[in-house]
Amino acid sequence: VSLTTAQIREKYLQFFEGKGHLRLPSYSTVAPDPTTLFTVAGMQPFKDQFMGAPAVFDGVANRRVTTAQKCVRVGDIENVGRTRRHLSLFEMMGNFSFGDYFKRDAIHWAWEFLTGAEWMGMDASKMYVTIYKDDEEAFTYWTQEIGLDASHIHRFDADENFWPANAPLEGPNGPCGPCSEIYYDRGPKYGEDTWGDYFQTRESARFLEVWNLVFPQFDRQEPLADGTPVLRDLPFKNIDTGMGLERVASVVQDVPDFYSNDVFAPIVARVAELSGKPYEGEVSVSHRVVAEHLRSVSMILADGTPFSNTGRGYTLRKIMRRAIRHGYLLGFREPTLFQLVPLVVEGMSSAYPELRDNQAKVEASVKAEEERFLKTLEGGIQRLGGLLSGMERGAVLSGQDAFVLYDTYGFPVDLTLEIAEEYGITVDEAGYAESLENAQEIARAGSKYGKSELFGGNQEALEGLPRTEFVGYDELNVEADVV
Ligand code: ATP
Ligand code: MG
Ligand code: MG
Ligand code: MG
Repeated sequence: VSLTTAQIREKYLQFFEGKGHLRLPSYSTVAPDPTTLFTVAGMQPFKDQFMGAPAVFDGVANRRVTTAQKCVRVGDIENVGRTRRHLSLFEMMGNFSFGDYFKRDAIHWAWEFLTGAEWMGMDASKMYVTIYKDDEEAFTYWTQEIGLDASHIHRFDADENFWPANAPLEGPNGPCGPCSEIYYDRGPKYGEDTWGDYFQTRESARFLEVWNLVFPQFDRQEPLADGTPVLRDLPFKNIDTGMGLERVASVVQDVPDFYSNDVFAPIVARVAELSGKPYEGEVSVSHRVVAEHLRSVSMILADGTPFSNTGRGYTLRKIMRRAIRHGYLLGFREPTLFQLVPLVVEGMSSAYPELRDNQAKVEASVKAEEERFLKTLEGGIQRLGGLLSGMERGAVLSGQDAFVLYDTYGFPVDLTLEIAEEYGITVDEAGYAESLENAQEIARAGSKYGKSELFGGNQEALEGLPRTEFVGYDELNVEADVV
């Protein structure tokens, strides 16, 4: 390991301190404003400064700030363990300018940090960038000053190169602007695709988005009655950047994905040890989900959000339950995942001491939630056993039955398939998918912010998670708000 994740975090903060930035601590995972449940980006605690409020922090005035911000994105949760570039908890490194420097410096400094030999030392010839469609200013800096070949630059519309994505059309209201993103080509061992192919599928493990340079210069206001978006110029132009710490660590350490880096490898190894199932093959998705989700659950609990049946605590519960059901697939029948909490604490508490301060509480909460949900899972197994034992070998379990098990008991369809197979019964998977799709349509229609992955609060419910609250288990409600 050339640089640990902690060393990269520290280098980033030092680099920007060297450029006159004030280092501030991470804000809580509890969002500072009501547009989201959780903090989703480093800029979120600074919306007032982008809107023109004085840049004074604990009595210190500075229009340049740098942070490592813990971010929770539940819209990405279905990707966790699957795309291998999405975490539900990640650290976003940021440098911010409140009406001070702008595009030119932001681009030069990002480049210097990534490619400078004494910083990240990444290969300059493997850098690619995207820019907003008509941002000639950014294009000029990238090509003429940085020296990037025009073939390494892609222009995109607001759905890709605006932050928040598609803000003019979809919101939320508040500071927003065009952006320029930096990608790294990890080489042919990670895929045969080309830069041109990348945006067809976005599935590539080869081209990895590492840094988003945002140029907030607009305040999105309530659209006109006919829906026309209203963008007002902010009092001054700002810089907001977000570099994915874990992604850069994967590149710098040249490991295939997060789960082999210095932060996750020990947790994944412990999952393998506890389950007796080596980290390989199809089941390895469960190692990853368990390791990743325990990290986010621990941080969210440490920040004071308890498991509950509403709001933030409900989302937390869904993350935990996704971990528990993957633990179940790994063979855990008794509370086990709480034993991973000490590893999370050990790995992250130097930067986030709140983890150590709350360790005992976090462990107890996780364990209690495991006890509760393992019972629920057992309920689903009994219900399924009842259905299957009344059927003949070779019969087909209806998709609706499989869906009800999932929806009511949080019972994963892969478990349904596995158990049905033991009875010689198949499952109407197409019918299941149809029932699920119908439920998702309903969830989407109720989502306030449309399709945006950040703000589509219902999207995390779409895969592998129970859509509704768990009915018929009163003890859930009774204990809901106890940490
Ligand atoms: P992607 O397109 O891969 O979903 P994004 O465009 O949604 O990423 P941004 O909102 O631009 O991400 O966030 C800034 C940076 O934070 C990204 O360039 C990336 O390095 C990192 N990042 C974003 N989402 C995640 C995540 N779920 N897990 C880990 N890192 C992330
Ligand atoms: Mg994303
Ligand atoms: Mg992106
Ligand atoms: Mg991005």
